[in-house]
Amino acid sequence: MPSNALPVMIAGAGPTGLAAALWLARRGVPVRVVDKATAPSSHSKALAVNPRTQDLLEDTGVTARMLAEGWTVRGLSLHRSGHDDVAVPLSPLLDSDRSLLSLPQSRTEALLADALRAQGVTVERGVKLDTLTQRDDSVAIQLVHADGAVESTHAPLLYGADGAHSTVRQALGLAFPGDELPEPWQLWDLHLTTPLDPDRVHLFLRPDGFLFALRVRDDLWRVMGNGTDPLAALPVGTVCGEVRWQSDFHIAHRVAERAGVGRVLLGGDAAHVHSPLGARGMNLGIEDAYVFADCAADALAGRPSRLASYARLRHPVHRQVVRRVGALTRLMHGRPPSLRELRDVLVPRLMRFGPARRQFLRVAGGLDHPVRTRG
Ligand SMILES: Cc1cc2nc3c(=O)[nH]c(=O)nc-3n(C[C@H](O)[C@H](O)[C@H](O)COP(=O)(O)OP(=O)(O)OC[C@H]3O[C@@H](n4cnc5c(N)ncnc54)[C@H](O)[C@@H]3O)c2cc1C
Repeated sequence: MPSNALPVMIAGAGPTGLAAALWLARRGVPVRVVDKATAPSSHSKALAVNPRTQDLLEDTGVTARMLAEGWTVRGLSLHRSGHDDVAVPLSPLLDSDRSLLSLPQSRTEALLADALRAQGVTVERGVKLDTLTQRDDSVAIQLVHADGAVESTHAPLLYGADGAHSTVRQALGLAFPGDELPEPWQLWDLHLTTPLDPDRVHLFLRPDGFLFALRVRDDLWRVMGNGTDPLAALPVGTVCGEVRWQSDFHIAHRVAERAGVGRVLLGGDAAHVHSPLGARGMNLGIEDAYVFADCAADALAGRPSRLASYARLRHPVHRQVVRRVGALTRLMHGRPPSLRELRDVLVPRLMRFGPARRQFLRVAGGLDHPVRTRG
């Protein structure tokens, strides 16, 4: 790579953009990461770091730091009122020698940003990617800084890691087809005194919905669900304490019609969104970043055809994961009532039945497909 080469531009310093920048910098590719937010978010959407992500980040040293800070999820408990619980061991997860790790997304991002800084790259905050124009040999980009200053620049490649409402995807004119569940979901990060096993993730099949509970750290739990008064589904003996964060969100399942055009590629939520029940969004975005960095570094080293490999490799994976997580979510969320009755019979049986259980764990562990960087 010539020392005066223009940097690759990455829009968005979420987990996808940070991981892409880190892998490119480690390959000696100059890179700029801009984020319109003036500071990283202190709230964490994602908690679960899957075995695939831990494997991919191993060489960077980030995995060791994640393992030191997070805690290992030992198992999953499925609860149905009036029935025996179903217990599924999660550690290690299937044939992987790793487990699901609980670590707030804000910490994952901070560890990625630290590793990136060690490569000499600092995220440029308060800088919004505003417009882009593709040229034969570069992308012309306009950035708007927090003080209103407009910067015109060029990059050999642009990676749109700018989230679900991606400016980059919209500038490419790519549709984002899919659907959305009609009802709002609620999320709490709150202190709990509870008889729930703190080392497990808990799923509750409720008469009017679904509830998920996972410990963040100490006695701070993430509780998330739909239906009326989800917290009331927590087991007898649970006492709710201080709420640290409460949020409502809608669940959508969408995949961009392509994962890139020419010198502009998309990764993470900019390319795919799905329900958090699969614990895949952040993890899949980090996997996108890994493949992007490999294809981009090769393209800049004189193999331009590798740019097209990225979209060819990732688009089918995005479609497959969103389809699987969407099906799981529609089954679990307990609506309409006819489907709920089927769910209450089917889900516990599937969890007890080896092959179905293994497929569920492959999806949750990010192990339902190999990561391919060639093809
Ligand atoms: C409740 C909930 C729980 C979840 N739990 C999990 C989980 O356990 N495991 C998991 O893997 N996933 C989970 N997810 C999904 C995960 O949070 C997302 O998939 C992940 O944040 C996507 O990362 P990203 O980097 O692609 O995008 P984002 O995190 O959305 O980051 C995009 C960044 O781009 C910036 N940006 C936007 N527009 C511009 C612009 N024009 N110019 C410059 N910067 C811009 C934004 O400021 C932002 O920092 C969960 C999601 C929710 C809602």
